[in-house]
Amino acid sequence: MTTTLPETTFPNGISVPVLGQGTWHMVESAASHADEVKSLRIGLDLGLTLIDTAEMYADGGAERVVGEAIATRRDDAFIVSKVLPSNAAHAKTLHACENSLKRLGTDHIDLYLLHWRGGVPLSETVEAFERLQQDGKIRAWGVSNFDVDDMEEIEALAPGKMATNQVLYNLSRRGIAFDLVPWCAERRIPIMAYSPLDEGRLLRDATLQRIAAAHGATVAQIALAFVLSTPDVIAIPKTGRPDRIRENLAALDIRLTDDDRATLDAAFPPPSRKRPLEMI
Ligand code: NAP
Repeated sequence: MTTTLPETTFPNGISVPVLGQGTWHMVESAASHADEVKSLRIGLDLGLTLIDTAEMYADGGAERVVGEAIATRRDDAFIVSKVLPSNAAHAKTLHACENSLKRLGTDHIDLYLLHWRGGVPLSETVEAFERLQQDGKIRAWGVSNFDVDDMEEIEALAPGKMATNQVLYNLSRRGIAFDLVPWCAERRIPIMAYSPLDEGRLLRDATLQRIAAAHGATVAQIALAFVLSTPDVIAIPKTGRPDRIRENLAALDIRLTDDDRATLDAAFPPPSRKRPLEMI
């Protein structure tokens, strides 16, 4: 089992492990609440310090669960949350952040993202993010679901300020490898890969099952190992099951062989030209 987790560094100099924890669909069943809090805490114990959440998830409920998990140990966690595009105007962003802080039970968010681009001019949201950063309410800001043209626009508005772009990336959604991954790599902007298991759909794939058997691993571990093999990509799988936290963590120890890669490329072809950014 890995003890020191590999890290990547945001442009503000803060480093985080390349494997984190997602929270979408948590809190949707009362029965799973205790396991969800427990999973997040076990993850923190094992070094999975980056926890991704959003005001949108369960209408603030996911942020409350995160708040519960970190209540006695705020400094162990690197919290990522997101503002909805409908709240992205200047004053509304400041207000949305205050509400997220209350639900999380903390005085700062480590990384605050625009969940996706809506109708509000980007300059307005960036100004609000900068203000929040100056006030110490957020440590860094970034975006989510931005394609290269949107990234160019925001980078021109605030050169060198954006910390990350959180986007859909997994074996069956490889489009960003063509242009967004190299664009971010050139600027040393780590990418955060959401739905690295394609929301669980990859778990049924026969090719992955064969590769997993050859490694004595699980399908989830192989799917995660693929995402984690892309430099400076942070994978944020979600599980509300404590037993799966260790399983997902052990994906960091798997090295895919050249043969594995060729087999995966045949089953999930890499992009040979620009594909529009996919979103879930
Ligand atoms: P995902 O992480 O690809 O898949 C989650 C599903 O896989 C859940 O059903 C989970 O079930 C299951 N799972 C996890 N580990 C497993 C394992 N070892 N074995 C078997 N099943 C396993 O999908 P996601 O939740 O959509 O994405 C991850 C996170 O990314 C989200 O939680 C959210 O924080 C973020 N996200 C961001 C955006 C955005 O627009 N920015 C969009 C989507 C997601 P159990 O919980 O029962 O284990």
